[in-house]
Amino acid sequence: MVKSALITGVTGQDGAYLAKLLVQKGYKVYGAVRRTSSSDLWRLCELGIEKAVEYVPFEMSEESNIYRKVATLQVDELYNLAAQSFVATSFEQPLYTTQIDALGVCRILEAIRLSSGHTKFYQASTSEMFGKAVETPQTEKTPFYPRSPYGVAKLYGHWITVNYRESYNLFTCSGILFNHESPLRGPEFVTRKATTALAEIRHGRREMLKLGNLDARRDWGFAGDYVAGIWAIIQATEPNDYVLATGNTWSVRDFVSRAATCLGFDLEWDGAGEKETGIDRKTGKTIISVDPLYYRPAEVDQLVGNPAKARRQLGWQTSTSFDELVEMMIRADYNRVGSSFSESKHRDIGIMP
Ligand code: NDP
Ligand code: GDP
Repeated sequence: MVKSALITGVTGQDGAYLAKLLVQKGYKVYGAVRRTSSSDLWRLCELGIEKAVEYVPFEMSEESNIYRKVATLQVDELYNLAAQSFVATSFEQPLYTTQIDALGVCRILEAIRLSSGHTKFYQASTSEMFGKAVETPQTEKTPFYPRSPYGVAKLYGHWITVNYRESYNLFTCSGILFNHESPLRGPEFVTRKATTALAEIRHGRREMLKLGNLDARRDWGFAGDYVAGIWAIIQATEPNDYVLATGNTWSVRDFVSRAATCLGFDLEWDGAGEKETGIDRKTGKTIISVDPLYYRPAEVDQLVGNPAKARRQLGWQTSTSFDELVEMMIRADYNRVGSSFSESKHRDIGIMP
């Protein structure tokens, strides 16, 4: 029997990698997309699977739309990856973020409960729920302390997923994923922002990269490894919640230094705080500076996860090292800048009446 899956957020980084994995595994894959002025499938196109997915219109704020799709499709597995996923934006748009990242989850769960009880549900939870972390490393048992409207909204999404499992005996599970990156990462996130800007500087198309808090530390892994973990979570015999992480942590400065080295810069850091700069010793040019514009009202200083439960119960572990990840992203952005790559590919995907 061919298994079927609905992926919300299929146009995002994880959605694209997960869609590819499920297509390779022989699933019938439905991709949930919202109506925008430009139906943008560039990530699916990059992975060569844009035609292997059947697209359905799906808006996280629209209850009846969600209900109809869930009731009609009756999929075996539903992966809820759709979100307003950028922490900085959540400070500007806290109510919208709550609508999508918190209430949106409950809308889907209600639709499953009322019309498709056999559907297994995966919720994309996040290490941002640990926020001002009360212990290191963080596990499934670490108390939560979110530090942004995004983290708070995702915490609701996490607990409502647990609650529907315990209340209605539904197969609902949650992956608490630490930051994972790739050449398909959104350009506003610090890793991709750095790899794109450094590639542009290397090609002579830009002078400087401006960043915020260089001391922030994250547990960065490769998105391709993480979607394999997402799939494994929903295949477990019993629904449960799992941390997916590498178990290591690096500062933003570490990431930028590694990326600069990959491009042949000889970076030297000078000064501190808002006065810190990164200078290329080879040319004497300042290529990195700090701009407080990118500071956040409340910061998450350090995250590092302990993925022991996922390793023990699911056999999951990462296979891509930090250096390999940075190199992969740098290589992709260096080539893209050289070929004037555009992330936007406008296509009519035939889902609107
Ligand atoms: P992206 O930002 O790349 O993708 C988000 C997706 O959600 C896009 O497909 C977007 O559609 C869709 N979306 C946003 N708003 C709506 C809406 N109102 N209705 C329908 N769809 C919507 O995120 P990632 O792929 O990086 O992350 C996937 C999930 O995992 C997210 O929930 C994120 O919060 C979570 N997560 C991610 C981590 C990471 O490091 N990447 C870490 C932990 C959790 P569109 O293309 O139209 O904008
Ligand atoms: P997040 O962990 O989901 O918030 O992922 P981001 O990639 O957006 O940010 C990771 C860390 O990098 C946060 O602590 C940010 O404060 C820090 N950071 C420093 N400079 C920047 C910047 O210019 N852009 C972004 N997005 N983050 C930055």
